[in-house]
Amino acid sequence: MANHPPSASAPLIELEDVTRTYAMGDHVVRALDGVSLTIHEGEFIAIVGPSGSGKSTLMHLLGFMDEPSGGVMRFEGEDVSRIGSGRRAAYRSEKIGFVFQAFNLLPRLNVLDNVLLPLSYHRGTIDKSRRHAEQALERVGLSGRAGHRPGQLSGGERQRVAIARALINQPRLILADEPTGNLDSRNVERILGLFDQLHQEGQTIILVTHDAGVAAHARTQVHMLDGRIQDPASLETAAR
Ligand code: ADP
Ligand code: MG
Repeated sequence: MANHPPSASAPLIELEDVTRTYAMGDHVVRALDGVSLTIHEGEFIAIVGPSGSGKSTLMHLLGFMDEPSGGVMRFEGEDVSRIGSGRRAAYRSEKIGFVFQAFNLLPRLNVLDNVLLPLSYHRGTIDKSRRHAEQALERVGLSGRAGHRPGQLSGGERQRVAIARALINQPRLILADEPTGNLDSRNVERILGLFDQLHQEGQTIILVTHDAGVAAHARTQVHMLDGRIQDPASLETAAR
């Protein structure tokens, strides 16, 4: 983060003193308690921290699934702190690609149709969409599996299909929540290699993980505890 050249272009995402609170009876849970964070295009960031530290809450905000209770969130320079659920849905489908621990593929659809799913609300010719889906599968090394069902694939292959699906809309940001949590060590390496490759190609990636080895793949690590980012200064030295 620190050694990005000062440029005229706005950061991809800026959070300023963001809070997210939940009212639980007469008790308030501060899931995020004043988070400030700047994310530039092309960064590969791991969010790490113990259970309950606010990682998922932060991912939900970054993925337009939720709104801050306080503070400011800017995306591509625009204040998106309180844009409402309709515009959030549009941002979510146009700008964000999601990768989940449990892959979340539809078992009855083949691989190609799973990758095409996020496009269903978009206009465009079927041929062009298919070509994009085939290109996405090529990027994750699964061109030969387009006609398979998820059940016919290994866990690692399923996660690669999920990554192809996340790429289909050419998102500004990939959000991955414990993407290697259900994989054996060989497939973990394969998936991390794929994230490395996407990062090399300029893709912005944020992943949540419990695993220090997985986090080490990211160029920057953000440590969370009790709804706060720990020691923001360490972000600067970690950035390359
Ligand atoms: P993590 O993903 O790091 O495990 P979360 O972001 O899920 O942490 O949760 C942070 C804190 O906010 C926890 O104390 C959790 O219990 C609380 N929390 C999260 N979601 C809700 C909710 N919908 N209602 C009430 N409390 C919540
Ligand atoms: Mg969580």
